[in-house]
Amino acid sequence: MGKKRTKAAAGAWTADPVELLRVGQDFDLASFDRAGTPGWEGDKHSAAAFMAERGEQLSDLQERLFADGKSGGTRSVLLLLQGIDTSGKGGIVRHVIGMVDPQGVALASFGVPTAEEREHDHLWRIRRQLPPAGKIGVFDRSHYEQVLVVKVDQLEPPELNETRYEELVAFDREIIGNGTTLIKVAMMVSHAEQGARLQERLERPDKWWKYNPGDVDVRQRWDAYQDAYAEMFARTSVDEAPWHVIPADRKWYARLAVTELLHRALTELELGWPPADFDPKVELERLAATSRA
Ligand code: ATP
Repeated sequence: MGKKRTKAAAGAWTADPVELLRVGQDFDLASFDRAGTPGWEGDKHSAAAFMAERGEQLSDLQERLFADGKSGGTRSVLLLLQGIDTSGKGGIVRHVIGMVDPQGVALASFGVPTAEEREHDHLWRIRRQLPPAGKIGVFDRSHYEQVLVVKVDQLEPPELNETRYEELVAFDREIIGNGTTLIKVAMMVSHAEQGARLQERLERPDKWWKYNPGDVDVRQRWDAYQDAYAEMFARTSVDEAPWHVIPADRKWYARLAVTELLHRALTELELGWPPADFDPKVELERLAATSRA
């Protein structure tokens, strides 16, 4: 007897994830369920099928954005990813952004500032990596580290820290004003899941390259980081540039949700195909005239 194959039930969004995951006034990080799958009716398998469909649509939308940029359009999209170690930022880049043509993507990762970067104000290195027209920019960490690691590790005087929130929001507004659709995403993994992921990195030789002893130091400051995230959400989730908090214990859900945010942002640009700046009829005739048959 052959194996019985059952068709995976089709999954669907039962509520708009863009709304559900947006940080509003009454958002409470402490009670946020990091293993939840808000708005998704279906399992991991139906999510994979849905994502494959979305992937094709994303690819088409990204090509339209690229074509728009080539034709003098000024629009771009910036997906900004924040999240502590193991929260799955890399997986988003691989599995979500990986569904579109890499030529249309501008990826930037922000680690500990280099000597050159430290000679400038903290936004200098960020400005240099903003996506040009027509591209989808992806920030793996961002200017928001200024109110996360910099605050938690007291890398600058605390009184300066107070001014950062307004400065960051002003910067977001500047980015948006220049024609960029900004999607701010924070990946939130639970303490237990982070522990399990770090343990796996330590137990598997093929994952050692991902491990950094500093990850445990950061984990020791878990509560301080949670406080910093909560404060960042409260102070910098504004109507024009809201944060979206993604439950990240289930990688498949996190990827599905970010796919949806990106898909929505691109769809809302309502991009058509740019008109030709030549006469297609004339060009077809010219092409026909080159025939050697
Ligand atoms: P990830 O943890 O994102 O996978 P990684 O471990 O490979 O990255 P890098 O990308 O080289 O490391 O650097 C990330 C580190 O840089 C994080 O620990 C982050 O806190 C730190 N970092 C980022 N921005 C700043 C900043 N402005 N000041 C100090 N440290 C920063």
